[in-house]
Amino acid sequence: MSTLDQFAIAGRSALVTGAASGIGLAYAETMAEAGAGVTLTDIDAEGAAREAARLRDAGYDARAQGCDVTDLDQVARAFDAHVAAYGGCDIAFANAGLDPGHGFWTPDGKRDPEGQIDVYDPARWHRSIAVNLTGVFHTVREAARVMKRNERATGRRGGSIVITSSNAAEVNEAIVGVPYMPAKAGVKHFMRHMAYELAAFGIRVNAIAPGPFVTNIGGGWVKNNPAARAAWDELVPVGRIADPDQIKPLALLLASDAGSYMTGSHVMIDGGMQLGPVKPL
Ligand code: NAD
Repeated sequence: MSTLDQFAIAGRSALVTGAASGIGLAYAETMAEAGAGVTLTDIDAEGAAREAARLRDAGYDARAQGCDVTDLDQVARAFDAHVAAYGGCDIAFANAGLDPGHGFWTPDGKRDPEGQIDVYDPARWHRSIAVNLTGVFHTVREAARVMKRNERATGRRGGSIVITSSNAAEVNEAIVGVPYMPAKAGVKHFMRHMAYELAAFGIRVNAIAPGPFVTNIGGGWVKNNPAARAAWDELVPVGRIADPDQIKPLALLLASDAGSYMTGSHVMIDGGMQLGPVKPL
């Protein structure tokens, strides 16, 4: 098989959580553009439906399902509906996530009085763990359940699970709420054990760890603020903050047979931010 043929996923199917916006939407577009059937799921059911309709209007095979990843029953129902539509599930993106808010610094560089540990709101801690970590557990659990049956259902053994982690799993990020870091570090280690456990079933599990991308995260502060975007462009070693499209080639590598020897990998895509900002924040 040629190198390019290894990226082919036409005729396969993918489910994406948090697909109404940003990086999850870019994953869904990648799958659709490459010829897979895709289910866009999101707690924002209307947003998922809107984006799935847009993809269908462009001639792609896309469907939508409302799904809050903190609720295991909703995640199970989303996978069951996907399997009912496509026979199995070859690819799953456990992507839904949020910044719980109130980092040590505000995005414009001031000390955030609500971001200090002695006053930090426990509700933000619990929300970050529920969405960013438990939501990934729910998604991988249900993906594994359906992927173990793929061979009988579709004739294709196993599958690929791709989790959205963060550079914050490895380096300190002082402008996101502190509960984001332990949640993403937990995601990284959970991913590694899942890769170990599921390898025997032909299921690969990897994580994409983005650095700064312009999305709606954190209320879209950078997206809606050209001055903030310009400031980030100066900070990132490669000279620019990324748009979600930049994630697409890596998503296709991990989802397809091109990544068949990759499992348990935590792949940074951060414009070099792990090396440190070009000038201090
Ligand atoms: P985004 O806000 O544009 O998209 C996140 C999506 O997740 C939204 O559509 C939102 O409705 C959905 N969501 C939130 N809570 C949910 C829940 N409980 N159940 C289901 N869906 C839910 O942000 P994004 O930047 O595209 O975030 C996607 C992933 O990328 C997250 O896991 C985030 O932590 C990660 N990430 C983003 C960046 C960045 O700079 N943008 C950096 C590193 C990691």
